[in-house]
Amino acid sequence: MEFKFFLPTRVFFGNDAVSKSAEYLKQLGKRCLLVTGRFSSKRNGSLDDITDVLKKNNIAYEIYDEVEENPSFETVETIGKKAKEMGADFLIGIGGGSAMDSAKAGAILAMNDIDVADLWTKNLVNKPLSVCAVPTTSGTGSEVTQYSVLTNRKKKSKRGFANEQIFPVISCLNPGYTLTMNDFLTINTGIDALSHAVEGYLSKRASPLMDKIALKAIGLIRDHLPLVLQNPKALEKRSQMMYASMLAGIVIAHTGTIILHGMGYPLTTYLSIPHGRANGMLMCGVLEMIRPSRKEKVARIAECFGKENGDLGGLEAFIKGFGIDTMEYRKKVTKKMLEEFADFASKTSNIRNTPGVITEKNIRDVYLEEFT
Ligand code: NAP
Ligand code: FE
Repeated sequence: MEFKFFLPTRVFFGNDAVSKSAEYLKQLGKRCLLVTGRFSSKRNGSLDDITDVLKKNNIAYEIYDEVEENPSFETVETIGKKAKEMGADFLIGIGGGSAMDSAKAGAILAMNDIDVADLWTKNLVNKPLSVCAVPTTSGTGSEVTQYSVLTNRKKKSKRGFANEQIFPVISCLNPGYTLTMNDFLTINTGIDALSHAVEGYLSKRASPLMDKIALKAIGLIRDHLPLVLQNPKALEKRSQMMYASMLAGIVIAHTGTIILHGMGYPLTTYLSIPHGRANGMLMCGVLEMIRPSRKEKVARIAECFGKENGDLGGLEAFIKGFGIDTMEYRKKVTKKMLEEFADFASKTSNIRNTPGVITEKNIRDVYLEEFT
């Protein structure tokens, strides 16, 4: 057996997660840039909790509250500049993956005079500022990963980069912040977490330890996502989803995501389908594509959803049960578009983690199957 394990994030989980992190936050410096979206963190209590702790500990802060969904190169450039101008010692990303990922990229750009596109290629001269993360969705796991996913709007291209120096140093997970999520967001983010667990389990970089965590996350999501939708204010069920999302994040921090994430990105950039939902639409098709090289593992996933002999019908019903379907997009999608999607996906780095030999044609066939 051979594996590596690295997770440098100090996690606080529970109702008082933010206040409990104070003694560690204090050690990060005297000036902080808060990075968040326009509305949600003001409504779910997370921004107030953070600013209270910062005030109590005499940490000066400024707020950048214009992060959009699928953050752009321009947004993270602005964040980097702002952090530099105010002399920030650290950043706190508060919100969904978009806010946390923006804080991570901004932390690098504040300290390194590089273009955003260089985040994928250049070795950094200077250590990024420290990043803290306060998730308010249960989906991306960005609070425990070294990834940041950014969109180049001009090129219609969405890609993630990895850098161990942007692992959040502190993450505060208070499930209470997720109580304000509507059903649509709860579903899309929950399926993103499922996708991380499934992809991590199938990844070429999977390990026995990560397999255990991935299967745990799959079971938690299978059991709790429907319950959260039945009773959106049930804090204990929301807690289980936040826990599952974090576990799935720990998995992909070690295994990476596979071609499913690479194939989902164009659905978001071209068709504005939310990230997790896009993965949900393609999940069973991708599992079928991978089956020849991971027969037992695909069967194990099928079993998690109540079916024997590798029958993915249970997983498919689970996903479709949330109204995730390609039907409404079939008329909008042209053959040329699907070719562009396949061309893009076949060049993503996610393919390196994908078991078997996956060709552009295999990828195109999955898109065709799901969208025509
Ligand atoms: P998001 O794009 O961060 O947020 C989606 C929407 O949800 C926003 O409108 C946001 O509003 C709202 N929102 C956030 N928290 C809420 C709450 N508690 N109640 C009500 N509304 C809330 O969504 P996400 O799915 O969490 O993140 C997706 C991004 O993360 C994508 O770019 C994806 O590619 C990336 N991702 C990153 C990783 C990683 O490891 N880094 C992994 C997977 C995915 P406001 O704008 O007002 O806040
Ligand atoms: Fe994801």
